[in-house]
Amino acid sequence: MSDQPLTAVAEDVGKMYDQFGDECLTVGADEDAPNFGFGEHLHFGYWETPAEDVSLAVAATRLTDMVIDRLRVDRTHRVLDVGCGVGGPALRAARRTGAHITGITVSRDQIAQAGAAVAADARSAQVDFQYADAISMPFEDSSFDAVFALESIMHIPDRRQVLGEIGRVLRPGGRLVLTDFFERAPIPENKLPYVQLLSQTAMMSTVRVEDYPTMLRDAGMLFEEIVDISEHTTRRTFKEMSKVWERAHPTLGPQEALASSDPCPGMATVDEFGYLLLVAVRVGSLTNRIAGQRQ
Ligand code: SAH
Repeated sequence: MSDQPLTAVAEDVGKMYDQFGDECLTVGADEDAPNFGFGEHLHFGYWETPAEDVSLAVAATRLTDMVIDRLRVDRTHRVLDVGCGVGGPALRAARRTGAHITGITVSRDQIAQAGAAVAADARSAQVDFQYADAISMPFEDSSFDAVFALESIMHIPDRRQVLGEIGRVLRPGGRLVLTDFFERAPIPENKLPYVQLLSQTAMMSTVRVEDYPTMLRDAGMLFEEIVDISEHTTRRTFKEMSKVWERAHPTLGPQEALASSDPCPGMATVDEFGYLLLVAVRVGSLTNRIAGQRQ
């Protein structure tokens, strides 16, 4: 049963993505619409070097591949995509690995778009999408061999809650791969307004990177890899997004853009705003082991 009620926050995030329709996904002719050019991969791009001349869509697909390859799954596996967007990463994961992918999202429009993408793809039997909240998922314990959460966990106010759910549905030995936003260093006072505006408009929060090992352990997982990929992702993505904005509003600098509620030109200057890639593994009986050690 996938139509359980969502939390109020998840409802609002879902409505935001309902409005973030397909006109935002490709660079189009309408200069007034914020066509950021993400393609079907609704997340930041990964550029090998700051000057590398590839589009946001290409760079975003590359980051999808980096996540997929860390799952280490094949056609015998079931994978959960937490926060599946319009289905680009799930379809790509199915093509690249042969695994069965289930995606969840809190946006009904995304469910429709992802469904249409699947219908047009030969992999349709291998991919399904459900409307569900990541903090209470309609799946049995240990029902997935791997889970990925590509730029979705930052929308969930309590990461412990969602990590607990992921730990529940992931089988022992299964891998979790996610991306998240964190502060590489305290944000300087003069740049805080950009980060605050982004947090409000995108309904997101950053994590303290040092909290991850404990949060994962409490969810029955051990962290295996945390990489700071900010230099390859954040500044350039904000620059690409603000280029689109500038084409529509050529006279606005960072300050004016702030007043007009576009955080991107300002965010392109915030080196302290970081992006991480994390891999963790579900352990068999961590709770028992810890309880046993205490005796
Ligand atoms: N991973 C996708 C989409 C990223 S956008 C991609 O990379 O293309 C963030 C996604 O997280 C959206 O699909 C949004 O609906 C989903 N999301 C946010 N909060 C959620 C929640 N509480 N439960 C499930 N999905 C959620």
